[in-house]
Amino acid sequence: MAKYINAEIAHIKMGRLKHGDDLLEALTEICAENNVNLGQVQAIGAVRKARIGFYDQEKRVYEFLEFDKPLEILSMTGNISLKDEKPIIHAHITLSGHDGKAFGGHLAPGTEVFACEFIIKEFSGIDLERKLDNQTGLPLWHGDEWAE
Ligand code: ZN
Repeated sequence: MAKYINAEIAHIKMGRLKHGDDLLEALTEICAENNVNLGQVQAIGAVRKARIGFYDQEKRVYEFLEFDKPLEILSMTGNISLKDEKPIIHAHITLSGHDGKAFGGHLAPGTEVFACEFIIKEFSGIDLERKLDNQTGLPLWHGDEWAE
């Protein structure tokens, strides 16, 4: 059965990152500085290079792909929750190159911003904490008061 919490949008931040920022780390820093522990993040723009992951479900490890070239961010979407009592962003990104073909994966540190416009929606509600899930090997959400 699905487990979930109920939350409400408390604040929205809308802005742009600096040229040369690390996409994931810069967004995570904004959350940490503002105590945004629960929410949603989305972004569009372009990167100078990208690093994305694919989770190998059998080996239970991330395999990383690196692209050292300009790419468009067609879409980046993610969520904000807590891990080890700090806000963490789990985001996936769809990128494209000169030919317009899209590809993507799990956003990893090492993705460098050319230009990026972001929206962070901060939710009020029960904090979700990531803890190791034995079935998947991934740090998944656990809540004290799940709705079912
Ligand atoms: Zn992921």
